[in-house]
Amino acid sequence: MYRLDSGTKQTLLQLADVRAKKVHGRGRPRICKPRSPSRAIFGARSSAYVLEEAARAALGVSEMRCRRLFEAAREGVLLLDPATRKITDANPSIIEFLGYPLEEFVGKELWEIGLLKDQKASQAMFLALRKKHFICYENLPLQTSAGRNHEVEMVANLFQEGTHPVIQCNVRDITDRKRVEKELRAAKNEISRQALELRIKVAEHTIQLRQTISELEAFSYSVSHDMRSPLSAMRGFAEILLEDHSAQLDTQGIKYLEKIDAAAGRLDTLIQEVLAYTRALPGELKIEPVDLDVLVCQVIDTYPQLQSGQVDIQIKGVLPRIMGAKAGLTQCMSNLLTNAVKFVAPDINPQVKIHAQRIAGDIRLWVEDNGIGIAPKDQARIFQMFARVEHTTAYEGTGLGLTIVRKAVERMGGQMGVESEVGQGSRFWIQLKGVNQ
Ligand code: ADP
Repeated sequence: MYRLDSGTKQTLLQLADVRAKKVHGRGRPRICKPRSPSRAIFGARSSAYVLEEAARAALGVSEMRCRRLFEAAREGVLLLDPATRKITDANPSIIEFLGYPLEEFVGKELWEIGLLKDQKASQAMFLALRKKHFICYENLPLQTSAGRNHEVEMVANLFQEGTHPVIQCNVRDITDRKRVEKELRAAKNEISRQALELRIKVAEHTIQLRQTISELEAFSYSVSHDMRSPLSAMRGFAEILLEDHSAQLDTQGIKYLEKIDAAAGRLDTLIQEVLAYTRALPGELKIEPVDLDVLVCQVIDTYPQLQSGQVDIQIKGVLPRIMGAKAGLTQCMSNLLTNAVKFVAPDINPQVKIHAQRIAGDIRLWVEDNGIGIAPKDQARIFQMFARVEHTTAYEGTGLGLTIVRKAVERMGGQMGVESEVGQGSRFWIQLKGVNQ
């Protein structure tokens, strides 16, 4: 049980006396006429006694409260006498934690129960406490009576209890926290190690991929060029035959020659498109502001089929600037516009409308035609390689144009799509970032 020293009690009784005076009137004793001197002395004594009792009761309550805190604390608490450095009391929590009975704590120094390394460390702690009145240790190793190793955190405070100094050590088991921290550190290290490995692998693969792409590019260029030269020879000889030797050929022969020339022409277009497709795949694209108005006019000026008298191309307003790559955008626009004037019923003059729409920070560029239209079931398929819609086989083509558009748009970080109905014309769009003004 806690016992208050006489000094503390005296202080508290004095305090109670002052309070009692205050009850009687602002520190001044109340002057009242005693009925008889003896009764007056008795009255004064009895009221002093009542006050002393009240102070004692208050003290008891406060003492009980402190004791409850000490005993119910989940942290281990040790009380030490600074003069002897010995433990004077230990709370149930530390008794249970270390597994020694209270008697084994009392009278021992901290190093003797394994809290500090040795006597020297204990002396150093007491010296520091005398100076700073507070000291905190983290990661103290501590072994229980059962031989289990723990890590604890200890906070020691030097207090004044009345006239006596006392040291209170609060001991907290941080083994679990330390274990979790260690596991977390290990997991973090493992994650960074794996991330580094991944980065190295990605870098290696990227180098390999770039190498493969440039080899493929060189290969496809040389194959395509090598294929085009015998083709142009075939077409050239067919032309000479037609121009210089048609007299020796009958109508059927001339027809066959024309078919050879047309087939060679188709193969040439196919090779050129395969070349264009391979160009749309590799390498970095330089994305920069591109003036769509200028670019679209240039495309129209370049392709004879877009300048025919029967073709009507209208540009609504001035087309804005867009973030893209000139070469990629030229490929997109030439494919979309030549398709728009190509896939039109034979008796209809092609009409094409181009306009831009702002969608948040993006620009959606529309190319609308009055052509044969595309059934909804075919609309996703036509962007795949060599895909052509059945009823359009009568129109010349390779089925690569829209694949090139899709690839180019994706590489510029944009999207594309189509809205259409059979017989109702088609509305193709590409969407890219606009240029911030
Ligand atoms: P190509 O034009 O060489 O056939 P594309 O990849 O450009 O190849 O187009 C794929 C198919 O999509 C075309 O064969 C055609 O069936 C359909 N298509 C493309 N553009 C249009 C259009 N504007 N109107 C109708 N059909 C179209």
